[in-house]
Amino acid sequence: MYKRVLLKLSGESLMGEQNYGIDNNRLEEYALQIKEISDLGVQVGIVIGGGNIFRGLSGAAKGFDRYQGDQMGMLATVINSLALKSSLNNVGVKARVLTAIKMEPVGEFYSQPKAIEALENGEVVILSGGTGNPYFTTDTGSSLRGIEIKADVMLKGTRVDGIYTADPEKDPNATKFDEITFDEIYDRGLKVMDLTATTMCKENNLSIVVFDMDTPGNLIKVIKGEKIGTLVKN
Ligand code: UDP
Repeated sequence: MYKRVLLKLSGESLMGEQNYGIDNNRLEEYALQIKEISDLGVQVGIVIGGGNIFRGLSGAAKGFDRYQGDQMGMLATVINSLALKSSLNNVGVKARVLTAIKMEPVGEFYSQPKAIEALENGEVVILSGGTGNPYFTTDTGSSLRGIEIKADVMLKGTRVDGIYTADPEKDPNATKFDEITFDEIYDRGLKVMDLTATTMCKENNLSIVVFDMDTPGNLIKVIKGEKIGTLVKN
């Protein structure tokens, strides 16, 4: 069983059935899944995206300056992180939000020792604001934070159940990998995460499990080592 994990949740998944913002049912489903593994004693760090609210690149396409757009995107991840914290608290889980950008009292400014101390105290730690820098993504933020907190694995929760030879939503012949190496991902040009994020994991030997987080009960299965999703390793 994994002892310390970095869970990456996409902002987009938080929309649930809606096409913008935060769906409370989805949020609560996530909180309950996280509670299940936290109750087992697993130390959980979480990075959540902001795509349900704002993405720098789409903002830039509409005429926003990219630098500013990315700052808006990072703030969006903080909004999602606060929502998740509140939902976790509602189901009885202690959680705290650390921010990559100084904005106390919204959340405490991130530092690695602070994050590890909170994890060791059994708190769920939500690492918000991505990396704090523009031109990065929350996937890269989660690679970075996963490495910093010395997570055993990065769990990338998505709406598909793993990595396929092609996009399963477009190609009916696509087949799923149970396991794949980082090198194979490069060779096949698969889009699992952006290359910056993938390379950070490869170079620091942080394995990734890509799995379907939108099916309740899946997170605990991954923790217990059930073979769902796709394992990416060196
Ligand atoms: N972002 C950023 N730096 C980071 C992480 C995120 O500038 O280190 C911005 C970027 O504009 C991005 C937005 O925050 O589009 C939301 O993050 P992301 O697109 O990764 O969210 P997701 O796709 O997971 O919902």
